[in-house]
Amino acid sequence: MGINIDELKFAYKDKEVLKSIGFDTHRGEMVALLGPNGSGKTTLLKILAKILCPDCGIINIDNRGLEGITPKELAKEMAVIPQSFDTTFSFTAHDIVLMGRTPHLSRWGSEKERDFEVVRGAMEKTNTWQFKDKLFYNLSGGEKQRVIIARALAQEPHILLLDEPTSSLDINHQIEILATVRSLVDNENMMVIAAFHDLNMAAKYFDRILLLHNGEVYADGPPERVITEENIKEVFGVDVVVKNNPITDSLYVVPMAKACVRKSKPRERVHLICGGGSGSSLLNKLDQDKYDISVGVLNMLDSDQETAEYMKIDKMVLEAPFSPISYENHMKNIALIKDSSILILSDFSIGSGNLMNLEAALIALRHKIPVLMLDKRRIEEKDFTDGRATKIHNELLDNGALTFTSKRELLYYCKMLLSERLR
Ligand code: ADP
Repeated sequence: MGINIDELKFAYKDKEVLKSIGFDTHRGEMVALLGPNGSGKTTLLKILAKILCPDCGIINIDNRGLEGITPKELAKEMAVIPQSFDTTFSFTAHDIVLMGRTPHLSRWGSEKERDFEVVRGAMEKTNTWQFKDKLFYNLSGGEKQRVIIARALAQEPHILLLDEPTSSLDINHQIEILATVRSLVDNENMMVIAAFHDLNMAAKYFDRILLLHNGEVYADGPPERVITEENIKEVFGVDVVVKNNPITDSLYVVPMAKACVRKSKPRERVHLICGGGSGSSLLNKLDQDKYDISVGVLNMLDSDQETAEYMKIDKMVLEAPFSPISYENHMKNIALIKDSSILILSDFSIGSGNLMNLEAALIALRHKIPVLMLDKRRIEEKDFTDGRATKIHNELLDNGALTFTSKRELLYYCKMLLSERLR
């Protein structure tokens, strides 16, 4: 039991919006329609709800052609939840939900015992029964939206269509609504199709994503197959990083600032020594300031290495994962440092494996390359070498290295130094 769509086409006059849409969905599935504004998500929902008539194509609902289903029959099968709904009339929350029973009433008939039972059940499932007697227009945005879901449930449908159901809500209410809808899919075997714009929420709550692009289904599948950096770049035209959140075990998408994508010819070279995630935001900031960046020595699989890789930094000295820095890589690092105008050390922890990175900073000073160190922590707190790192750190300070406790100050100083050099 479900919806089958094939070769669906629709145009507003001569503006072709849906060119060829095809997909099948079944009960117990929560499907998000994603795509940029104007990609036809609302239009598709309106066609499914029989508000618009397609130019051609097949739509079957539970194996029946949509064209042969009367509006009253459809209202018992499917309910539509708009972005928001308001009224200035003095309806209580209960009155609004009772309106959902309309398709089940005979022409001149009034509500019966069962209608009131269904309304109560719908309000309990959506946690709205406690304010049944309150005036609808006095409720908060999230409460109103839950009442509207209750009204939809009172229709006793199998299919819920939602058009950006959380777009006007704050984060708490968004979570509340999506969790309510999720439980309807899991516990009542309902099918949900929702136009949606929040990629992170879609990844967390939906089973399946249909990504619309150029009037077609560009990608269709579980979030991890559809929400990829390549697909988002192609469809939305933005650079993002897609990661897995280890706590929620769902994807999250982080948009990258436009300046992170290296375009213009860089100016001065800045070399960064970092590791363990201590350098990622510095890399980002240096990139936004359009410096030519080199990095080393970093272990492969280090999160700073992943960031540098993403930013397409090609001047990078890499060591094997979890291995100490080899002499050969140390020398490569020094070669990059000598080609730089400035050396920055992020607030990384120092063990015997990366002690050479600190020694490289001493060599930089010998070659008159300014060294700026981010020391948010005292050196003793990040020294895991029985004092050897502390000794070199002190030597660096004695030889003119500068230490900063704030990233902002360090970057400001870096900018000043480099602009003086350019004069
Ligand atoms: P989405 O929901 O993905 O933002 P829509 O389905 O609302 O997209 O709109 C798809 C395209 O159709 C847009 O370019 C929009 O401007 C256009 N459109 C929507 N409604 C109408 C209408 N009633 N008349 C003409 N064009 C429309």
